[in-house]
Amino acid sequence: MPFLPVTPRGGSAKAVVREDVDRFLELWDKQGYGKIVAHAPYTLNACSNKPEVRRFAREAFAEDLERMEYTPGNYYNFHPGSHVGQGEEKGITLIAELLNTCLYENMTTTVLLETMAGKGSELGRNFGELRAILDQTKLSEKVGICLDTCHVWDAGYDIVNDLDGVLEEFDRTIGLDRLKAVHLNDSMNGLGSHKDRHARIGEGCIGLDAFVRVINHPALRELPFILETPNEDAGWAREIALLRNAYTE
Ligand code: FE
Ligand code: FE
Ligand code: ZN
Repeated sequence: MPFLPVTPRGGSAKAVVREDVDRFLELWDKQGYGKIVAHAPYTLNACSNKPEVRRFAREAFAEDLERMEYTPGNYYNFHPGSHVGQGEEKGITLIAELLNTCLYENMTTTVLLETMAGKGSELGRNFGELRAILDQTKLSEKVGICLDTCHVWDAGYDIVNDLDGVLEEFDRTIGLDRLKAVHLNDSMNGLGSHKDRHARIGEGCIGLDAFVRVINHPALRELPFILETPNEDAGWAREIALLRNAYTE
C-alpha cells in the first residue's frame, strides 16, 4: 500500500493512505457533503512566550496544511493564540509571523481565524484584533474567519438582542466576505463573561430563538454550521434535527 510522505507530528498523526483519500473524495462527491472545516490542535499557540511551543505550532500548522491539500479547497480553523503576558501587539505580530511562514501562494485551503471568548490572554477577543492579524499577513487572501457563537457572546457581542448590529460591526471591521464558517454553541455564561464554557443549543444564556435567527440570517444561512456542544451522538442528532426544523427553506 503506497504511503504518501508526511512529516510526523510526535508520532500522533496517522500516515496518509492514498486509497483512503481517493475513497473519501469519491464519497464526498457522491454524497454532496459541504466544506470540511478542520480544527487545529487546541494546544497550538502561535504566540506563546516559549520558543518550543511556537515551534510546535509552526510545525503542526505546516503539516496540517500539507494534509489539507489531499482534500483541496476546504477550511483549516485555528485559535489565534494566547499572548501569555507579552501583550496584544506582540501576540498579534507572532500570529502573523506563523501565517507568513506557513501560508504559500498556490495552496487551495483557506485558513480560518476563530473568534475567541477572551479567556485569559486569548487574542481574537474582538473583531479589531482579527483585523490586525489580517493586516500583518502577506497572503491574507488565504485567510478567513470562523465565528463561534459562544465565543463572541462571551466576548461581549450581543448576538441575542442585536445580531444585525454585531454583523454590521463585523462587516465594517473585517468584511463579511471573510466570514466562512460558524461554530454553533450556546454559552453557560452571560454576555461578556470571557469564560468559554459551551452549552447545548437552547440550554444556555443565548437560547434557541437567537440560534433560529443566526441560522436563517441572510449573511450566515449559506455558511457551514458546526456544533461543538457538550453532547453525545444521540444528543447531537436531536440538536441537528431541531436546527434543521427551524431552518426556513
Ligand atoms: Fe475552536
Ligand atoms: Fe469553536
Ligand atoms: Zn470554545
